[in-house]
Amino acid sequence: LAPLVPAWAATPEAAPAPAYLDSRQSTERRVADLLGRMTLEEKIGQMTQAERAAVADDPTLVRTQMLGSLLSGGGSTPAENTPAAWVEMVNGFQEQALQTRLKIPLLYGIDAVHGHGNVQGATVFPHNVGLGATRDPRLVEQVNRATAEEVRATGIPWNFAPCLCVSRDARWGRSYESFGEDPALVSQMAVAVEGLQGDGGKGRGFDDDEVLATAKHFAGDGGTRFDTATAEANEGKPWWEQKYTIDQGITVTNKRDFQRLHLAPYGPALDRYGVGSVMPSFSSVDWTEDGVGNPTKMHAHRDLLTGTLKGRMDFDGFVISDWEGIHQIPDPADPANTGLTAYKVRTAVNAGIDMFMEPNTSRQFQDLLLAEAAAGRVSQARIDDAVGRILTKKFELGLFENPYASADDLDEVGSREHRSLARSAVAKSQVLLKNSRGALPLSGKDSIYVAGRNADDIGNQAGGWTITWQGASGDLVPGDTILDGIRQVAPRADVTYSADGSAPAQGADVGVVVVGETPYAEGYGDVGGPECGWCTPAQQEEKSLTLQAGDQAVVDKVCAAVDTCVVLVVSGRPQIVADPGGRIDALVASWLPGSEGAGVADVLFGRKPFTGRLPVTWPATAAQEPINVGDANYRPQYPFGWGLRTGGHGGDRDAQALDRAQAAVLAGTAPADWAELIAGAEHARLAGDASNARNLLAKVAR
Ligand code: BGC
Repeated sequence: LAPLVPAWAATPEAAPAPAYLDSRQSTERRVADLLGRMTLEEKIGQMTQAERAAVADDPTLVRTQMLGSLLSGGGSTPAENTPAAWVEMVNGFQEQALQTRLKIPLLYGIDAVHGHGNVQGATVFPHNVGLGATRDPRLVEQVNRATAEEVRATGIPWNFAPCLCVSRDARWGRSYESFGEDPALVSQMAVAVEGLQGDGGKGRGFDDDEVLATAKHFAGDGGTRFDTATAEANEGKPWWEQKYTIDQGITVTNKRDFQRLHLAPYGPALDRYGVGSVMPSFSSVDWTEDGVGNPTKMHAHRDLLTGTLKGRMDFDGFVISDWEGIHQIPDPADPANTGLTAYKVRTAVNAGIDMFMEPNTSRQFQDLLLAEAAAGRVSQARIDDAVGRILTKKFELGLFENPYASADDLDEVGSREHRSLARSAVAKSQVLLKNSRGALPLSGKDSIYVAGRNADDIGNQAGGWTITWQGASGDLVPGDTILDGIRQVAPRADVTYSADGSAPAQGADVGVVVVGETPYAEGYGDVGGPECGWCTPAQQEEKSLTLQAGDQAVVDKVCAAVDTCVVLVVSGRPQIVADPGGRIDALVASWLPGSEGAGVADVLFGRKPFTGRLPVTWPATAAQEPINVGDANYRPQYPFGWGLRTGGHGGDRDAQALDRAQAAVLAGTAPADWAELIAGAEHARLAGDASNARNLLAKVAR
């Protein structure tokens, strides 16, 4: 029998694809269409970011909790930490997200703050403090371009970088994440955003080797002050019960200084480079000028997040809270601060935070926000605004069209090209603080005695945020240590090494002692290991800037034995190195160079000149902190901008002016306020006033 209805006619007509899935539609149209289809619960899911560890055992939580985002916080990386394993992992979570009703892709975020240090084999670039020393924004852009390529190659489209913190106190355990103490310098380096995002920040959509950047931590994170009340409460307590007084502390300021020092770098990050996300700081702000005396947590700061950032500064991306940052908002009904409350959630959402880094999957955040929204204490409009901002970035990143990462670009990770870029960045970041008797460069030396625990330790070279949150000493990642680099660059020299300086140093032409810090992230940083377990905050702060006793002993021992003694400080910040007998001939700030130790050897042996300049003031004593360019009675050991050169200035008039000024200082003919003049000149130069800079330097050289 012939069918009554022809087969073609029986097939129900395919429903037209929803507009949000149609890539020919404008992003605005797609966002509006998708928002119109979402339930409140789905919207709140988009506003939630959990940590990988919380879903690792049960990836279906991504689907059932309708999570909008996942992160790998430091220290929670896949067991088999290869680039390919990352792609597989991220795709596995994405598969879950795409099984939700509306198939909204997941946005995965990570801290790749000095290259993609989370992954074995990635290029580990110098931390920002070293990049600040290069004074080379173009280089910083390239470094971040390479970082974006490596991050995206492992399937991750979002990076919690760059830190636009302006570090005003080296005792802060995150000061190495800062490009420096001068907002003019940090503003130039905001070009890192362009390196990460490429054209993606300009509304043209992201290419598949570009990532969404995050300017952090908004704002004032580098300006927190020693807070006496906290310090007093800490007295007598063991360290694990003490609260930090600098990290996550209070930025005591007036609005003008806050603007000038801490908000300034966000200007170019937003206007010129179109940064797509911003992370508020754990710290608080206290406008003492207004006589408020009542610090407000940045995570609750509606004036700054909504009024200033999204309002006056016209930020159109989304705000992502820092790790459980909203838990720190004081709730008057919970003075003991026992956990997350409805008050904290609504205060943060109403202040302007769009996505919430709530690492666990307890659903506490989602349930509290659902109830607050149902009760009308958080408006539907605020939620739609938050979700709209997040979805806009997901569309711009092309995640709806290409949700899965391919394994095609894995050779980007640790590529020869990126490693050679890192090596040149390392060379440019080295700052020559002292160089008497022409100690450097070390050309024509046959026998070199290398000592110090940081000479052959790639983990110490890489610093925090490497493989794990805190980083670790030892053989952590592939690459070249400084000792490896010396052996490569001077293959004919007789190089002997002893970490503790115990081998006989006599008879060597030159001793190279590499000392400094061991890795850390956040808090006070390296305060001298367990010996400081019971230290008061004041003692910890002092120890954080003083070369540790063991390191100082190696310096003393080796420098007493060799004819020429070169000391390299591998650290995230200045370290006070004692030299009572004047035995140290050359002193170099090597910062945290990362995986390419050969870049250090390049400048030591004169294959490349020293050109780096101090991105932060190098104090004479720890007690001088906070000490910064622009201070009255500025008497540091080395001022902001200081940096001796080896090799010529190549016709660069600014460099030549600095050379002359520094020569006058070394000859003892400079006026007493030379440090202030040199630092002031460097600030003027960075702020674009080259003639004022040269005038100030001329006063030193006169
Ligand atoms: C840090 C942020 C970081 C986040 C995620 C926090 O502890 O303050 O800078 O992006 O963790 O790892």
